[in-house]
Amino acid sequence: MIELDSPTLIIAQAIVQWLLAILLMAERGMDKGTKYWVIALFIHGIANLLLFSRPYLPPVIAVIFYNFCVTTAFSFSYLAFARLVGKQAPLWLVLFPIFVMILTMSIYIDDIAMRVIFASIITGTQLILMAFILTRGNWYGSEKLKGWLMYSTGLFGVGFIVRALFCYVKPELFIHLVAKSSFQSGLVIAGMIYIIFSTVVILLVRLDRLNKELSTLASQDSLTGLFNRRAFMHNATSIIASENFPVSVLMLDLDNFKKINDVHGHNVGDTVLKLCADALQDGLKQYGIIGRFGGEEFAAILPRADSEQALVVSEKLRLAIETINVNPDIRLSISIGVATSSSVSSIEPLLIRADKALYEAKSKGRNQVIHADLLALN
Ligand code: GH3
Ligand code: MG
Ligand code: MG
Repeated sequence: MIELDSPTLIIAQAIVQWLLAILLMAERGMDKGTKYWVIALFIHGIANLLLFSRPYLPPVIAVIFYNFCVTTAFSFSYLAFARLVGKQAPLWLVLFPIFVMILTMSIYIDDIAMRVIFASIITGTQLILMAFILTRGNWYGSEKLKGWLMYSTGLFGVGFIVRALFCYVKPELFIHLVAKSSFQSGLVIAGMIYIIFSTVVILLVRLDRLNKELSTLASQDSLTGLFNRRAFMHNATSIIASENFPVSVLMLDLDNFKKINDVHGHNVGDTVLKLCADALQDGLKQYGIIGRFGGEEFAAILPRADSEQALVVSEKLRLAIETINVNPDIRLSISIGVATSSSVSSIEPLLIRADKALYEAKSKGRNQVIHADLLALN
């Protein structure tokens, strides 16, 4: 029967670390943060193996190389944690602890207490820095997970600092306590739980990020970067559902766009579409949202905008398109149909009215804005 003493647990921890690392490596398109975490797991596994074989190793390997591995693993963990929040860790923060560890372990190679004190301070500081970096940058996963990861990492860090203090004040007592197998076993088990937990968090955060990227891709028009029709309709429906009345809807269509394609080619047509989309987005962003409806046709919704305000914004957009200068041969213009309502339950009737106004703008000679209310008068 296998006994759960600390050497067995240390080997078990190394195996768990390597298995987790192999599992993470099997994932397609690993990001940098996950790569750093995999390296940390591998190196820490090696450290555990060295710890297990300590009685049979010369001191240089058993002490200096072991502690070098531990600090390097924590430096890589720090890099991984920084990546979790989209940050790049400064190189000196990664290398400095390794350097100090090698230095102090070499100086105190024959003094167990001093070795424990320095190693604990360095590891504790690294863990506290790891917890601290999580408070910076952008976290993609759930806030609860972030809290748990931050506090457990910080707690381990503080634990190491307490260990250093304890060893400084009462070295004999400390060595006696550590020599007890059950105490050591408890520590190794806690470490193992922490490692598995952090790995799961890293995976979940990555999943969350991929999900967000996918939903952005699904809601974006690939050429212009504007909302696509589906996303626009979704957002417009929420605006109407929250009764941001009066609400105005714009239908916008570039004039004689087919001619640009025919004369200058499809690529120039694409560039023009992108420029127009940027100009429309720029002119509209403080008033509402815009989407590409298809081809060279756009739709916009302006919450809390009456007819007058909607006409002012539309006129601004029309002028913005007119002033785009692609090359001297290309003159751009846009026709805009506007509709406003103070009480609708869906966007469709507004779109239909705005579309009628757009049709009117086209038939009246293009490059103009027409409000649907004017059509009703005629
Ligand atoms: P009008 O003033 O009446 O709107 O005339 P128009 O030429 O703009 O309208 P029409 O609907 O006849 O032509 C639209 C053209 O837009 C036809 C199509 O080739 C072009 N188009 C649609 N989508 C794209 C695109 O993604 N890229 C490019 N380059 N052209 C596109
Ligand atoms: Mg057109
Ligand atoms: Mg069109």
